[in-house]
Amino acid sequence: MDSLTARARLTEHRHYRYRGCAPVPADLADFPGQALGDPELHIDAWGTVDRSDDNPEPQKTRIARERAAIAVCEACPVLAECRTYANSETPDGHLAELDGIWGGQRSLDRHRALIRRRQADTARPAAAALAEARTVQKQAVLRALAREVDEELVAYRAGMDVRTANWHRAILCGLLGLDKDTASREELLATARRLGVLDERIRVRPDGRWPIAAAPNGDGSRQRRIAPGMPQQVVLPGYQHLPRGRRPSPVPASVVAARGRVRRDLRLRLVAPPPVQLPLPLPTVPVPAVAALETAA
Ligand code: SF4
Repeated sequence: MDSLTARARLTEHRHYRYRGCAPVPADLADFPGQALGDPELHIDAWGTVDRSDDNPEPQKTRIARERAAIAVCEACPVLAECRTYANSETPDGHLAELDGIWGGQRSLDRHRALIRRRQADTARPAAAALAEARTVQKQAVLRALAREVDEELVAYRAGMDVRTANWHRAILCGLLGLDKDTASREELLATARRLGVLDERIRVRPDGRWPIAAAPNGDGSRQRRIAPGMPQQVVLPGYQHLPRGRRPSPVPASVVAARGRVRRDLRLRLVAPPPVQLPLPLPTVPVPAVAALETAA
């Protein structure tokens, strides 16, 4: 809202005449300039006290004066309109009210808010960039990225080759204000969601244990890949201390085999069991021979 419109909304408000910093009518005031919101205050409490450099306002006095004025603002019937007007910007880019207390804010508070707004505007991509990120091919790549973590599958889902999908992914990073060489897959998708480029209802498949991003080359530059083709590419700036190489499986191979998964080496060992070895029969001695032996004994 421009400052002129905001000022008109404030001054034409039906309760404007009852604002806290309005002067009490002369015939009712105990002293000239008595503030309507606090009989102890003068309306100058809302402005910057004009003093010479030789006689500045003591800090304690200034803080007490500002606190008293802000307390009146907080009960003012036009607080919202007053704050909107004071924080609006003139055509030449300045605050509508540079000094004094307006809408319960000091001059310093309004300037800090202005700086924050400008920083947020700089960080937010332009509307044209967001519109380009919503083109059919960019949307196809984003949706494919949400579903897949492997770059070939991402390209397959998006209906294009890997090189083109990577190119679109890099362009998307630039359009959404990310660094295409360092942004991870999750960062890209989260930013797209936050800016309304990716539908919130689309489920994003998690990366796994580590975020997927381009890994540095040997010369310090970064590869531009969506997802790791090789395990050692799962490296982010700031994550270099993590071990690189093949990701260890969270489940030992023996446990996987015990759960019923067929292992190729085990299948090869499936051979017929050896024949059962039966014990040999004991020799039988005839009964007459036993009797002869007993007689001899
Ligand atoms: S909010 Fe404060 S500065 Fe604004 S009109 Fe009310 S009393 Fe005055």
